[in-house]
Amino acid sequence: MLPRHFSPSANIADLKESATIAVSARAKALRASGLTVIDLGAGEPDFETPRFIREAGERAIEAGATRYTITEGIVELRSVIAERANAVYGGADRVDAKDVVVGTGSKQALFNACFVLFGPGDEVLIPTPSWTSYYEMVSLARATPVPVHGDPDAGLKVSAESLAAAATPHTRGVMLNSPCNPTGAVYSRDELAAILALADDRGWWVINDQIYGRISYDGRVAEPLDIVTTRDRLIVIDGVAKAYAMTGWRIGWAIAPRAVAAAMAALQSHTTSNAAAVSQHAALAALTDVARADNAIAAMVAEFRARRDAAMAVLDAEPALRYVYPSGAFYLFCDVRVPGEPAADAGGAFARRLLDERSIAIVPGSAFYTPDWVRLSYAAPMADVLAGARAIVDTYRSSR
Ligand code: GLU
Repeated sequence: MLPRHFSPSANIADLKESATIAVSARAKALRASGLTVIDLGAGEPDFETPRFIREAGERAIEAGATRYTITEGIVELRSVIAERANAVYGGADRVDAKDVVVGTGSKQALFNACFVLFGPGDEVLIPTPSWTSYYEMVSLARATPVPVHGDPDAGLKVSAESLAAAATPHTRGVMLNSPCNPTGAVYSRDELAAILALADDRGWWVINDQIYGRISYDGRVAEPLDIVTTRDRLIVIDGVAKAYAMTGWRIGWAIAPRAVAAAMAALQSHTTSNAAAVSQHAALAALTDVARADNAIAAMVAEFRARRDAAMAVLDAEPALRYVYPSGAFYLFCDVRVPGEPAADAGGAFARRLLDERSIAIVPGSAFYTPDWVRLSYAAPMADVLAGARAIVDTYRSSR
């Protein structure tokens, strides 16, 4: 007989479901029930995967890419990833295909990195706000996530000084993400270099999630591989989901020191094995046909920029409403707490009002350990983005 009640194991005793995914699941369920819902929750491009990539996927199926590949991914894909990294990295320890592990989305690459690097007693610094899953992944590795709150006057970014102040003898690593989810803030080369120098000095692992790197409005985004001269404590995480509009294909990867890459592959060999073979071939086309990919990305980024600018113009009409200037990614992060009014979860209450009163889904800031804020994704049609920005301003004004 099946037990009536399920007591979760200690592994997941504190696990919370992904708030970002929960918001879009709720929006989808409301839509399915017949309601018209504007979904500005999901961090998912609303564009189709570019045609040349879809066609590469079709060709791959017909050519027989229907079986297991080796766990870490087809060598052609890992070689292209290594070549692209070497185009920016100047260190003597050149990136080799053996240093690359392709997984089921950058999410799996991040999880695997946390799981093989951190364990009980370890503390991992997480610039806050950060994407909801970093905190949970570190906890699943039974290490302790340590939120380090960013400066609201500096785009909610952390500095080398604020990270150093939060460090203890147990600190083992730091998670970086620029452009940042949920704020869109981008770290300058100098800011990043200062953090990398601190990490080097302290012997911390650096996990750098650069999944939004190509979605940038103010020039090329600085990345650790531009700066460091050795990568013996650096894990670079990237993937095709966001810039190439390939979320559902689930292809991401890690570039790691050889021994770490081997450990991540061994872990993956016991969980999911290889990422979907056909998706690997589609990702190979995305990374190999550079001219077509660059055109497609430029068109999508131009559209994101137009939506961002239009939404900012709406938000700017209410000067008391503070938001982070988004230099990249496709999020607007707004401080919706009304000054003088204490609220434990101002962003949660605000997001609920938007959903209940206007059928607009956004993500409460508590998902990112900043409960006064809300995140709007402008990876949605212009009319929806404008409706969302107007609703935020109206609701904010009416609660003052
Ligand atoms: N990363 C995206 C977001 O923050 C997709 C959902 C998820 O995986 O969390 O909305």
